Amino acid sequence: MSKNKFETNAIRNQLERSQNLEHSVPMYLTSSFVFEDAEDMRASFAEEKERNIYSRYSNPNSNEFVDKVCQMEGAEAGFAFASGMAAVFSTFASLLDSGDHIVAARNIFGSTHSLFTNFLPKWNISHSYFKIDELDTIESLITPKTKILYAESPTNPGVDIVDLEALGVIAKKHNLILIIDNCFASPYLQQPIKFGADLVIHSGTKLMDGQGRVLAGITVGSKDLIEKIYRFSRITGPALSPFNAWVISKSLETLAVRVDRHCENALKLAEFLEGHKKVNWVRYPFLKSHPKYEIAKKQMKAGGCVVAFEVKGGLDAGQKFFDSIKLLSLSANLGDSRSIVTHPASTTHSKLSIEERAETGITDGMVRVSVGLEHIDDIIRDIHQALK
Ligand SMILES: *Cc1c(COP(=O)(O)O)cnc(C)c1O
Repeated sequence: MSKNKFETNAIRNQLERSQNLEHSVPMYLTSSFVFEDAEDMRASFAEEKERNIYSRYSNPNSNEFVDKVCQMEGAEAGFAFASGMAAVFSTFASLLDSGDHIVAARNIFGSTHSLFTNFLPKWNISHSYFKIDELDTIESLITPKTKILYAESPTNPGVDIVDLEALGVIAKKHNLILIIDNCFASPYLQQPIKFGADLVIHSGTKLMDGQGRVLAGITVGSKDLIEKIYRFSRITGPALSPFNAWVISKSLETLAVRVDRHCENALKLAEFLEGHKKVNWVRYPFLKSHPKYEIAKKQMKAGGCVVAFEVKGGLDAGQKFFDSIKLLSLSANLGDSRSIVTHPASTTHSKLSIEERAETGITDGMVRVSVGLEHIDDIIRDIHQALK
């Protein structure tokens, strides 16, 4: 692995130049690649050589994206997907057999929860949830059929923190595959493999692209697990498009500077909200008042781009707040250069029952802010006037 630092690798670890000696990496919009002769064709399909054959299997642009993320996460191998959910689904589908069991954190992305609850049972794959404040209950949920331990940190939308090192210890002891959805942190802020994760999943749609343009997903980790995911995915076809791979590989060149500013702005907004009289509570991993502040400091470089808070006055006050926002976007994305406010209870987590929402701390007055790259004074001014 290169001894250059993160920022340098993100920029310099790129595809070899073609004979045109271009400076910026070109786009390889091609569905297939040609063979030189009959022997080359045979050897390529027999996988006697590493080369691109068909863009459902691999493509120079997705290879560049995978190589960059592997280097950032300290992973051996990876596969790039059309979206974060394609990565989540394909990872589970390739590693699990009928009868297998997943132990997962209760606080996970809404679509991942729906996958576990509504679809994986069709293939006789079951799950149990643990509460992230009660990691000592995990062992009681593990059965002889448990294969995967799964969590996100920070969590969506409550920005709670899961102790990755503790999960690593449990996974190792019980021989489970530890999978971490690292989307909220990005590989710049946190590298779960250091704490014992076998696989790391990202929705590249969020901080990685960071400009709200493309959907993308990726799973990286150990060579043997990625090989299984690759075998499944090259047949089932969830591959990332070369165009999106090109866009997101470029985006990774600026990941560090963007995320630094996201975190600086988010911390300032969190500090502002903490003193605000119209706000019940604020949660941000790098606020000292966050219950898992010490763990966040241990495993993250900074607190990330998402701040959660509760407007006083419940649903009515919440709706008034959203209707009064002028500058920020009302949207469901996050990690974008544009600041976004979301109402989890009526959008991303509306499919959860009221009890399920209560269990994961999603209240009617809860607001999730993905703090963007506008000037922090303007972000704060808009939120301040909407709270009034
Ligand atoms: C958005 C998101 C996903 C899904 O990614 P898509 O690119 O939208 O499919 C998965 N996990 C987390 C934590 C997310 O925020």
